[in-house]
Amino acid sequence: MDKITIKNLEVFANHGVFPEENALGQKFVLSAVLFTDTRMAGRTDALEYSVHYGDVSQFMTEFMQKHTFRLIEAAAEQLAEALLLAFPRLQAVRLELKKPWAPVRLPLETVSVEIERGWHTAYIALGSNMGDKKAWLDGAVQALQDTRGCRVTAVADYIVTKPYGGVEQDDFLNSALELQTLLTPQELLSRLHEIEKDAKRERIVHWGPRTLDLDILLYDDRVIDMAELTIPHKEMHLRDFVLVPLAQIAPHMRHPLLGKTIEELKTEVVR
Ligand code: ADP
Ligand code: MG
Repeated sequence: MDKITIKNLEVFANHGVFPEENALGQKFVLSAVLFTDTRMAGRTDALEYSVHYGDVSQFMTEFMQKHTFRLIEAAAEQLAEALLLAFPRLQAVRLELKKPWAPVRLPLETVSVEIERGWHTAYIALGSNMGDKKAWLDGAVQALQDTRGCRVTAVADYIVTKPYGGVEQDDFLNSALELQTLLTPQELLSRLHEIEKDAKRERIVHWGPRTLDLDILLYDDRVIDMAELTIPHKEMHLRDFVLVPLAQIAPHMRHPLLGKTIEELKTEVVR
């Protein structure tokens, strides 16, 4: 990915653990690597296709002066998020925040934190087989769209499917959506659990009826195998009710473990 770099922007601000630091202020020095595709800007020589480094510098200065954080970790985290939300062409940012006058009473040159944050692409499966199923799915799409650091970029058609797993129950309504997100996989899972809880989901029977089920199918090309979270979703390649909607919005996406596209996986399952 192309980069635009801002080096050593000085800002006088009030971050620190000691009350004196919050009252008197001190010097902070910011560097930012802005990851963005500069091809269009390079070809057209037009600023609207790029990320304006002057605007970014101004934004960082105002942000640092407007807020007071105890930790430079927090200042960097919040500033990175604010930048990614404010500048649509910014894919990712590496931020270094230095505090040369940190009051540790030792002759160090500077202390700093450096973080890299950016947008990720996730695919979510949606399902409901109780009550107003369409309303539950619509509500989940809206709730994700309204989540800070989440943008829904595609939603597949809702399809009616037969229940799975041998429990006698109503048909399902299923779909899949594409999400741009600043959340980590674990944070995204927690957010999905909150949205399920708000939909009054109750787990009475395993595989049984539910108002709303939200599963993470893919998260970039990440592979995660933990007790509470498996990505890619363990059963996605076996389920037609997942692959049919997903193939509609991401046919060429490749399953990072099986090496096959979603379209290929779908044709193996749907006969
Ligand atoms: P299911 O989706 O299999 O019908 P649940 O929705 O009740 O069942 O999920 C049970 C647990 O599965 C969740 O609490 C979650 O911790 C875990 N889990 C593991 N991987 C994933 C994933 N990729 N997406 C969502 N939940 C997952
Ligand atoms: Mg689930």
